[in-house]
Amino acid sequence: MLPENFKLLGLDIKIIHSERDADHDYYTSDYEKCEISIFTEYALERVKERLFSSLFFFAIHSHLKLNLDDDSYVNLERMIWAVFRDNPELIKGEIPEKVRVLGLEYEMIEKVHLDSINAGGKMVFSDLQIHFTTNLNPKVKYVILWHEVIHEIIDLCDEKHDNEQNICGIANVIGDMVFNNDMSWMGEK
Ligand SMILES: [Zn+2]
Repeated sequence: MLPENFKLLGLDIKIIHSERDADHDYYTSDYEKCEISIFTEYALERVKERLFSSLFFFAIHSHLKLNLDDDSYVNLERMIWAVFRDNPELIKGEIPEKVRVLGLEYEMIEKVHLDSINAGGKMVFSDLQIHFTTNLNPKVKYVILWHEVIHEIIDLCDEKHDNEQNICGIANVIGDMVFNNDMSWMGEK
């Protein structure tokens, strides 16, 4: 079931389902009214992916003003969708034992000390591991996991956008979406 309401960054977004649109768009967003119209004339999988895209776009472009160009944004959104679909635990706000990121599987390991200071997590590309500090609050750990995953995928989209401001903003948007909404529609076939 596609949602009819969505909480995003403190806003209540109304999602209007319409059978089709004269211009055959996938969705339209009205930021001022806090409404998204999603057109359901397409295959359900496509409609769901486009709905996720519209919500992500709503947050990134209307509120965070992140320094991303449109092409990077589209690639990034699709890769985030793929990571969610490959890790059903993430859709529920839970941390899997291993996280699959674009065909590679990373192990989660807790460490008393991380090499980099001031970080709660660290991706070790060569060993396919993500290191976390111990005793993290589960929601903080979830956002840190996405932070590390997004470093990896944004690097593939466009290296120049791989900066802490962008990564923190995107990871926090994902946490905000998942902790405040039932996202199970993302995983439904
Ligand atoms: Zn970082």
